[in-house]
Amino acid sequence: MKKIIIAIDGYSGCGKSTTAKAVARALGYTYLDSGAMYRAVTLFFLQNHINPNIPKEVSTGLQELDISFHHDSSNGIQQVYLNGVNVEEEIRGMQVSSKVSEISKLGDVREAMVEKQRKLGKKKGIVMDGRDIGTVVFPEAELKVFMKADTDIRAARRQKELLERGKMVGIDEVRENLEDRDAIDTKRAVSPLVKASDAIEMDTSFLDFEEQVSRIIELAKERMN
Ligand code: C5P
Repeated sequence: MKKIIIAIDGYSGCGKSTTAKAVARALGYTYLDSGAMYRAVTLFFLQNHINPNIPKEVSTGLQELDISFHHDSSNGIQQVYLNGVNVEEEIRGMQVSSKVSEISKLGDVREAMVEKQRKLGKKKGIVMDGRDIGTVVFPEAELKVFMKADTDIRAARRQKELLERGKMVGIDEVRENLEDRDAIDTKRAVSPLVKASDAIEMDTSFLDFEEQVSRIIELAKERMN
């Protein structure tokens, strides 16, 4: 069976990453969370007071940061490192969430991240989730899925995820953040969030999680022959 690339794109909070992780585990593929990379860049810019409106500051900042992924040997969970420091928890908080889309719309930031994502996916056998994976990063991906879901359902899911990480955030703040990010992500000039013409659309509002995962595995297997 040949190795393929599976691109899972869509709006914030549709369950892309939990689905992508489960699909990767079932197929023995690598999972890559491209959103975590944009979140790590955002954290670095915040920590170093980099002004996103000053191109020189942005390009210097991008040269100074190194993002890597490591697996926690005790549970196999992927952790994101920024310049050698585990930032997995910090990048998931509201401080980063409220700034990440502003940073992700910068052309230089996207160029640097896309280059890294292409390197990481070169050998195939990867499931990558994000906003532009099927349109820009891997337009040749053998399987593209585009996820959407009702905003209130997405907000409730995201709030639960935050709570599981010990972060208490009100539902209105969570919903507003999702809506703000959707608006910036879909309207930006460089690689906006859009469904690839050959992507399979999934509305995850009322889909059973296991069903969602097995449907993608089935589609992937059809493309491996
Ligand atoms: O996937 P997640 O919700 O963690 O992504 C955080 C943000 O990173 C998105 O709202 C978007 O602004 C940006 N992003 C992006 N392109 C990707 C992945 C994420 O612009 N491929």
